[in-house]
Amino acid sequence: MALIAAAVHGGPAEADSEGVKTVTILGSTGSIGCSTLDLIGRERSRFDLVALTAHRNVKMLIEQAREHRPHLAVVADPACYAELKAGLSGTGIETAAGPEAVAAAAALPADWVMAAIVGAAGLAPTLAAVKRGTCVALANKECLVSAGPLFLDEVSRSGTTLLPVDSEHNAIFQVLDANRLESVEQIVLTASGGPFRTWSLEEMARATPAQAVAHPRWDMGAKISVDSATLMNKGLELIEAHYLFPVGEERLDVVIHPESIVHSMVAYIDGSVLAQLGMPDMRTPIAHALAWPRRMSTPSARLDLAQIGQLTFEAPDLKRFPALALAREALRIGGGAPTVLNAANEVTVAAFLAGRIGFPDIVAITDTVLEHAEALGAPPAGLADVYELDRIARIRAEEMVQRCGC
Ligand code: NDP
Repeated sequence: MALIAAAVHGGPAEADSEGVKTVTILGSTGSIGCSTLDLIGRERSRFDLVALTAHRNVKMLIEQAREHRPHLAVVADPACYAELKAGLSGTGIETAAGPEAVAAAAALPADWVMAAIVGAAGLAPTLAAVKRGTCVALANKECLVSAGPLFLDEVSRSGTTLLPVDSEHNAIFQVLDANRLESVEQIVLTASGGPFRTWSLEEMARATPAQAVAHPRWDMGAKISVDSATLMNKGLELIEAHYLFPVGEERLDVVIHPESIVHSMVAYIDGSVLAQLGMPDMRTPIAHALAWPRRMSTPSARLDLAQIGQLTFEAPDLKRFPALALAREALRIGGGAPTVLNAANEVTVAAFLAGRIGFPDIVAITDTVLEHAEALGAPPAGLADVYELDRIARIRAEEMVQRCGC
């Protein structure tokens, strides 16, 4: 319970101030980053942008910086620096490059930091923001999956306010009575089921990257879209929920809800079930985190239940979508298993997107790497161990990708 208060709710007094909010966006050129900037752009006078960061999409970063005027713009890839510098010359906006510069940007004083870098690459910068003891809106679930207990230790130590942005976790945050976790019977994460929800195993064996990223409900980056197609995204979210809302793994459940209107639910011991509903638009949970503990208006389409008519739910099919069971297994094994799961999944998803392996190979290889997780190293005692385990698991997954390459 103390963990929830410190880690998720944080310090309301600081976050409640009504002045101009200083903001940094890590991963501003991605899907979450763009949605965050869209909201900020609509109420520009309320926000002062400290830094925007990207990996290699310099063109978009230059456009964003010219429009939104942060004090600093950073690219993680040093090879992109000359283009960034030239593109922002004469604007007065400072520029920098390299992974260390991204982490340094994250550590600059800011009231609110959006952690929206994809993958474990977001761990170091997100931790840099956390260590400064600020308000961190967490979209980057992989950093929590990869280094959960150590990450939360840092959150507690620094007094950081951690606000969940993932729509399911944001929904739970909105309806969970965090001071009475003993009254929670179950937390139910909803899942759209992804683009292959009704596909047979044979059809999925032939799935292309273009089909996998064509999500029926959400417009997201490529990696999370593939994770949604395998249901690994829900598995990663299960682990994320386990760390954010410590009710016990056995009280976390998943239900498929193709319309993506109910974003998650909390069932209490008296039979009450509280859910958060809304149209599938990430600007709603982002706005919740951006304005927290207040609310701000968004341009998201409004929910019209009469027009939608019907909401449907079904149990996940673990035979066609084994990733969900795999993630739960990693959670049960504990130690370094979630780190290994996440690293192997990142490698295999990238290999699938590059046309190097087939769709079923993503989870099959991740499963094999996880099976040997204990042989890869002892449970991480510190962050250096997490990085080392992540590195070794990536090597192991890459070896397997090369062996099964198509
Ligand atoms: P995108 O792929 O759209 O964007 C990722 C961002 O991270 C980009 O700005 C990218 O820069 C940057 N980036 C990528 N690699 C690195 C790196 N090595 N170093 C520094 N920056 C890097 O992802 P999404 O916005 O879809 O997702 C971001 C995170 O939010 C993920 O963890 C995802 O799981 C989570 N999330 C996303 C949701 C969504 O609706 N999209 C919903 C819930 C959670 P560049 O553009 O230059 O490549």
